Amino acid sequence: MIIDCHGHYTTAPKQHEGWRQQQIAAFDAKTAPPPRPGMTDDEIRETIVNGQLKLQKERGTDLTIFSPRAAGMGHHLGGAAESAVWSRACNDLIQRVCNLFPQNFVGVCMLPQTTGVSPANCTEELERCVKELGFIGCNLNPDPSGGYWKDPPLTDRYWYPIYEKMVELDVPGMVHVSASCNPCFHGTGAHYINGDTTAFMQFITADLFKDFPTLRFIIPHGGGAVPYHWGRYRGLAQDMKKPPLKDHLLKNVYFDTCVYHLPGIELLTRVIPLDNILFASEMLGAVRGIDPETGNNYDDTKRYIDALSIPAADKQKIFEGNIKKVFPRLGAKLAQAR
Ligand SMILES: [Zn+2]
Repeated sequence: MIIDCHGHYTTAPKQHEGWRQQQIAAFDAKTAPPPRPGMTDDEIRETIVNGQLKLQKERGTDLTIFSPRAAGMGHHLGGAAESAVWSRACNDLIQRVCNLFPQNFVGVCMLPQTTGVSPANCTEELERCVKELGFIGCNLNPDPSGGYWKDPPLTDRYWYPIYEKMVELDVPGMVHVSASCNPCFHGTGAHYINGDTTAFMQFITADLFKDFPTLRFIIPHGGGAVPYHWGRYRGLAQDMKKPPLKDHLLKNVYFDTCVYHLPGIELLTRVIPLDNILFASEMLGAVRGIDPETGNNYDDTKRYIDALSIPAADKQKIFEGNIKKVFPRLGAKLAQAR
């Protein structure tokens, strides 16, 4: 089975994000937002059949762990109340996709984060998504300010309430920023990679996983700059008198394969233990074009794993085994779908 652990609903019916704009405009004008627009099952079905599901079939993947559009989370927009309503709306829409295509999609939620507001206010929505909607994980934004990094590092006790809930529910979190509203940082080209790299360095500096030995994070986009600079991070940890990274972090931190060329995947799989690598493509997402050097889509990441000279059993770990370990609730969902 080939499981893509990182996909977003980037093709949602237009009225979904159209309403979000109205909601934020109403917040700015201090008026009430209009009611949420309706969406039929047929409208939703069409966006998936001609989008993510079509690519699953073409590329030979079976299941996508599916979450709301990352740039659309917009935790820097509106206030905590707006974030709560928007998160519910986005997560409910993911559930509708998963209910329509239970063989092909399993849900991961966004959280109603807001800069300067304790993540304790996200625990209720996480619990609702896991217990009522059947989701198996969450996306945690390390920078709800959208590129200005106004909140404490992920190792600060500020974040502990959401970690306690993640541990209680046994769900991992993907560290995933949203849009950049800082003109210095291009969203998917800089802010995303910065977010990934920054989160990993934050984890090095503290002892978060002593407090939460079973807490699990996926750092997407191949771990940002981390695998390429693995020696730097090992050396920094050593200078800080931290244990070797494999003992310090690698029981808790995983990397996905959203690296859009073969040499990058070769480096990732040479540097990072194979037990810590999870297959993902993030389609349809950041880079949608075709690589003229190969004639294939950049984000058709399965081809890169297929091309690796590693044993089939190792590929199976990346495609399936590791993902089932990091998302323990996935097994029950798959049994249910069957
Ligand atoms: Zn993503």
